Amino acid sequence: MTKRVVLIGHPVAHSLSGAMQQAAFDAKGLDVRYELWDRSPIALGAAIRELKGDDFLGANVTIPHKERVVPLMDRLTEDAAATGAVNTITKEGKRLVGHNTDVAGFAVALDKLVGRQKMPRHAVVLGAGGGARAIVHGLIRAGFLRVVVFNRHLHRAEALVRHFSKSAAHMELKAMPWHESIIESELLRTKILINATSIGLTSDVSPVPAEILPQSLLVLDLIYADTRFLRDARKQGCTTADGQTMLLNQGAAAFTLWTGQPAPLEVMADALTAARAGGLRSAEGEVTGAEGDATSSDTAPGDEPGA
Ligand code: NDP
Repeated sequence: MTKRVVLIGHPVAHSLSGAMQQAAFDAKGLDVRYELWDRSPIALGAAIRELKGDDFLGANVTIPHKERVVPLMDRLTEDAAATGAVNTITKEGKRLVGHNTDVAGFAVALDKLVGRQKMPRHAVVLGAGGGARAIVHGLIRAGFLRVVVFNRHLHRAEALVRHFSKSAAHMELKAMPWHESIIESELLRTKILINATSIGLTSDVSPVPAEILPQSLLVLDLIYADTRFLRDARKQGCTTADGQTMLLNQGAAAFTLWTGQPAPLEVMADALTAARAGGLRSAEGEVTGAEGDATSSDTAPGDEPGA
């Protein structure tokens, strides 16, 4: 019987994960089909229940459901519980296990960006969605001592900070309002700047003006494209990386969870490059009501997003 793995999101048509995971299953000679399921929030519960069928190996979960699926899981791994977000589902019999492989993907991306330098201790994160949660968790685990989160809707950054209050008790984790002058002064004190917003995903705009980027910064954009933000940062003399390493490594970790086999990284990277040549920029499909539209915060209803 052909086994099935599905990506559940809304929308999912532009996902890069489909090309990457199907290439990996095919390269390993596994009879597995990776399907894209576009499911609105109201249809999420039924989609998750369907996964209990014998033909399913598991799933990926993406925008806007990563936080919403948490209460629908039978068990959460440590990373999923710590971030309050699930991007990969595996099965133990009919029980569903929620994982967050974005955390592992980010750890590889961070190491690669820092290279041979000493791991910095101070970072600025732009954004407070599901992606930002994996980033903040990863920074705490990597030993950062000051992390400042800026978000358009401050309450969401504050909720993120509250979510990590225990694991960040030994360090400074702060939410700050999105004002250019405040971001500028914070950047003078930091070594790492990460864009975890979707600004730049669907149009050529940057979350911050080029002039406020100090030359010595290490800059990561979670978006899988050479965004305006990254091009501006390079012009200013910064070292930059896009979301490819994180996307590839979160996908590789998910592949291993479903199959128990090491992921064919090169095959997956080639599939991503081909999909990118086809014009896709998004890590996991495009954001519903993308940039400039406050509905993107709908992914996190209430005070504590998705928790
Ligand atoms: P969410 O929808 O959960 O969060 C979106 C974030 O972008 C929020 O912080 C939102 O702010 C902010 N935002 C959107 N539009 C604007 C705007 N016009 N001005 C200011 N802020 C804005 O998405 P995710 O966290 O899941 O994903 C964020 C980005 O990271 C996406 O581009 C996604 O593709 C990428 N990503 C990449 C991964 C990879 O493996 N490379 C993994 C995960 C994500 P507000 O809360 O105020 O609405």
